[in-house]
Amino acid sequence: MEKKQFQAESKRLLEMMINSIYSQKEIFLRELISNASDAIDKIYYKALTDDSLSFDKDNYFIKVSADKENRTLKISDTGIGMTKEELENNLGIIAKSGSLAFKNENELKDGHDIIGQFGVGFYSAFMVADTVTVITKALGHDAAYKWESQGTDGYTIEPCDKVEVGTEILLKIKENAEDENYDEYLEEYRLKAIIKKYSDFIRYPIKMEVTEKRPKEGSENEFEDVQEEQIINSMVPIWRKNKNELTPEDYENFYIEKHYGFDKPIKHIHISVDGAVRYNAILFIPEQIPFDYYSKEFEKGLELYSNGVLIMDKCSDLLPDYFSFVKGMVDSEDLSLNISREMLQHDRQLKLIAKNINKKIKSELQSLLKDDREKYEQFYKSFGRQLKYGVYSDFGRNKDVLQDLLMFYSSTEKKMVTLDEYVSRMAEDQKYIYYASGESYDRIEKLPQTEVVAEKGYEILYFTDDVDEFAIRMLMTYKEKEFKSVSSGDLGIEAEEAQEQTDSEESENKALFDYMKEVLAGKVKDVRVSKRLRSYPVCLSTDGEVSIEMEKVLSAMPDNQNIKADKVLEININHEVFNSLKDAFEKDKEKVNLYTNLLYNQALLIEGLPIHDPVEFTNDICKIMV
Ligand code: ADP
Ligand code: MG
Repeated sequence: MEKKQFQAESKRLLEMMINSIYSQKEIFLRELISNASDAIDKIYYKALTDDSLSFDKDNYFIKVSADKENRTLKISDTGIGMTKEELENNLGIIAKSGSLAFKNENELKDGHDIIGQFGVGFYSAFMVADTVTVITKALGHDAAYKWESQGTDGYTIEPCDKVEVGTEILLKIKENAEDENYDEYLEEYRLKAIIKKYSDFIRYPIKMEVTEKRPKEGSENEFEDVQEEQIINSMVPIWRKNKNELTPEDYENFYIEKHYGFDKPIKHIHISVDGAVRYNAILFIPEQIPFDYYSKEFEKGLELYSNGVLIMDKCSDLLPDYFSFVKGMVDSEDLSLNISREMLQHDRQLKLIAKNINKKIKSELQSLLKDDREKYEQFYKSFGRQLKYGVYSDFGRNKDVLQDLLMFYSSTEKKMVTLDEYVSRMAEDQKYIYYASGESYDRIEKLPQTEVVAEKGYEILYFTDDVDEFAIRMLMTYKEKEFKSVSSGDLGIEAEEAQEQTDSEESENKALFDYMKEVLAGKVKDVRVSKRLRSYPVCLSTDGEVSIEMEKVLSAMPDNQNIKADKVLEININHEVFNSLKDAFEKDKEKVNLYTNLLYNQALLIEGLPIHDPVEFTNDICKIMV
């Protein structure tokens, strides 16, 4: 038997192939199954134009069988097979694709399913096998041939016997190495999982001999192993089916089968686009937050398929961060892949698809908000935070996309409302969109700072997420209305006379306030007459950009830069406590010190801020008690 050598370049190429093109060894099975599918497709396409050929789908299948004892894995197909010349050309010359040639010869342009194009996938078999044997008989030929190779040192071809037309690829699986377990490629469950993962939507059945545990006949608690041939793949991708024929259950089953989540998705989005880039996508909005969602470990992305074959299981470029909760897949025949088919050559198509998908997700969420409020709120409970992060991050670049999807709890409606709803309800004389921040709705409800705004009958949005105030600062306005914290300096509510009045009250009590300011030196920036308090004696407000809630969030961050809010202690001069304070100021400065500290600490407590010296605080309380 004459031994032929690979061309020198091919040898080097082969070594590269085996060692460095693919990031995962398991894809060899995807490549061999794709080739088998192509081989069957070729008969299918030939039959379209050749009357002497008929294509009865039942006769065409791919079979995967493992033999643990002999360490062999066989992938056989009933496809078109190869002649001796084709064996030489297609398997003897690396980067020569018989399938690409077939597409060109038969002028298959659009909508075809042939996968092969680079002429390298076959050699990925050497990543897991020492010896690869190909036994094949071409359609319309009597002779069968056997091709065999151990990799880089060349291959042999000799005649052999084979009854049916088609091809068998026999892999002698490598022995386990120190850092690599090859046994797994002989394990039924593993092979099944690889087929499901990459080749689930190959159009022809992929059969496998599967061992099932079954109850023994005539016995209830004894089991026996039964061998059974099963079809592993789903074959027809759901995204190619007619939308009208699919039920919500079909989508739910797909969601579960593809392991997108264990929950029941809130909504599915089925997209078929036949434009500049053709693609199909099935997307899901999950109901529940994946356990690692708000952690660094979470990886966003959609599955990316090219012609029904999985290329990437988490293509992150397809989703913006603010929609990272979306699960699902995209299939396109227009992607230009690189030879490993793990990456894309150009991302122009991908960018187009991503842009498209992004728009679609937004509009679907918007219609959910409009048409099924309850479901939207359920969604928002899980992922609203992510939308708010989206408003805040990238310097607010995406705020316009997201602002209409936001919701906050409303003081007057006692439920979640959108900004649009808030603004449309605003009173004529109301200048701002008011909000109050705190730990919980309950606590915010009791914040003294909300008193005057609430008294006016204005609606207040309650912010309980860390990110809320940051997001709103980024948004700045909604429909030209500015956001205003109920704790901020000017609330835009006082009439002018009232302003003059507080000014005169301020000067009247200047000496006292200056004194108090001194007592609280370093702790507050100012002590002032409050315009917002009604029943409470004190509260804190802030001047400047950083609010108290923001200070709390920032100080909890790992790279805490000790950013502080400029705090102002506001005193309700209509409160009885103020009389005691004035009284003390005339008679007993010690007492003013005591009262000032007490009032300041009370204000801190109301804000949920820590008291600098709790022991001193309790001692102070005892002092006034005795
Ligand atoms: P590609 O599939 O990108 O063309 P491969 O290296 O996977 O490249 O395969 C090279 C060529 O070998 C294919 O184009 C095809 O002509 C031929 N071939 C591979 N496997 C089979 C098969 N099972 N049946 C028939 N032809 C095959
Ligand atoms: Mg191939």
